[in-house]
Amino acid sequence: MYFGETEGTGFEVVDPEFSQCLIGHARVERLWTGARWSEGPAWFAAGRYLIWSDIPNNRMMRWDETDGSVSIFRSPSNNSNGNTVDLQGRLVTCEHLARRVSRTEHDGAVTVLADQYQGNRLNSPNDVVVKSDGSIWFTDPSYGIIMDYEGDRAVPELDGCHVYRIAPESGDITRVASDYVKPNGLAFSPDEQYLYIADTGMSHQENGPAHIRKHTVEGDTLSEGAVIADCDTGMFDGFRVDRDGRIWSSAADGVHCLSSDGDLLGKIRIPEIVGNVCFGGPKLNRLFICGTTSLYSVYLNVNGVR
Ligand code: MG
Repeated sequence: MYFGETEGTGFEVVDPEFSQCLIGHARVERLWTGARWSEGPAWFAAGRYLIWSDIPNNRMMRWDETDGSVSIFRSPSNNSNGNTVDLQGRLVTCEHLARRVSRTEHDGAVTVLADQYQGNRLNSPNDVVVKSDGSIWFTDPSYGIIMDYEGDRAVPELDGCHVYRIAPESGDITRVASDYVKPNGLAFSPDEQYLYIADTGMSHQENGPAHIRKHTVEGDTLSEGAVIADCDTGMFDGFRVDRDGRIWSSAADGVHCLSSDGDLLGKIRIPEIVGNVCFGGPKLNRLFICGTTSLYSVYLNVNGVR
């Protein structure tokens, strides 16, 4: 295991509140390298391991907290992207190649949760979150079908890139947002009163969106949602919310910490483009960071939402 400081990393305090989130002597560690594009970290508390996706390499990786080792969890992975853990501790995965959201059961069987909307195939589900009522909310941009690098190139069957909700009992799929260019990362506020969703439309559209919107959750639907933060370096991809409501988002220069209203509080500098983050460890006070080729982590004086 490596506990030293990693070159090119550091902290940038914009608001004094960010200093309170840091631990004086804690540094960013590079835990592993060797991926092409890292995404979708998810923490499995009972097993003390982290799973994440290496999308172009068509595999999911597993970092073991007990000895720091990394192994391949699943290959091929259908070019998996975002992952999360549901209320029963099961893995929920967005798969570009299969153009679906799946759940891995306790016995290892894989169940398809969503692969179409009103008879048309999904584009390529990107990121996913589970609400406390068991509903599953996911984004469906087209990154997995616009080129062969992260899936199979294909003609979209849907009229755009939207956000969907899977009902807990029936499994029915409804569209909850349809005015995004490329909906990407998403996370609820700790009280689930709000859902934050990133739009990475800038990736394929000049002057396109590179922001996060904040929607009020109204039962099974969402309010229109206002833009609360524009990314100053690259785009916000995946992100997580801490127990106090701050947003910890990926960006091109590392991790941006935002207030619940989108104000930039500070940055964790990472020497690669960051795709996603998640809180892990027994106390959920360790932030795992998926940089392009590498997995990083840093202990913080904040905790993720359980
Ligand atoms: Mg993403």
